[in-house]
Amino acid sequence: MKITNHVKINLPAHVGNEGFARAAVAAFCAPLSPSIEEINDIKTAVSEAVTNVIVHAYPEKDGEIDVEVVIYDDKLISITVTDAGIGLIDPDQAMKPFFTTKSAEEHSGMGFTIMEAFMDELDVRSELGRGTRVTMRKAIKQHA
Ligand code: ATP
Ligand code: MG
Repeated sequence: MKITNHVKINLPAHVGNEGFARAAVAAFCAPLSPSIEEINDIKTAVSEAVTNVIVHAYPEKDGEIDVEVVIYDDKLISITVTDAGIGLIDPDQAMKPFFTTKSAEEHSGMGFTIMEAFMDELDVRSELGRGTRVTMRKAIKQHA
């Protein structure tokens, strides 16, 4: 597979930056002519991943979010959202539907489930105290 385009965005993990990250990824993918449904899926998945960093990764310090988008063969999109925060105690458990470490009134525990449903592949790597890396892949279909 050949990389045809790539971008890296680094920004503070502030709540106000979620919209920028989501819109920036969508704009970067636009030349692939995704359907409205595909672009909405990507926006939603990026929003969940970036929101997780903002909400969970840095409870006691200011931190940063790295968002990297790589496009392969003009069709396959790989999006990686990385933080250097607290990490996940148990990634398999964290990815289960309805699992949350926050109050149920505030968070439903559906972020990873949504990423998995809206993208073709989800890969979560994490090390306690060192951070988390979420990689999501989606192939854009050919639209006549
Ligand atoms: P929702 O996304 O529905 O608002 P949620 O964020 O709790 O709720 P998930 O996105 O599925 O649900 O995440 C599950 C749990 O994984 C979180 O409650 C949190 O404990 C942990 N988590 C997720 N992302 C990170 C991260 N980047 N750093 C540290 N912990 C994380
Ligand atoms: Mg979440």
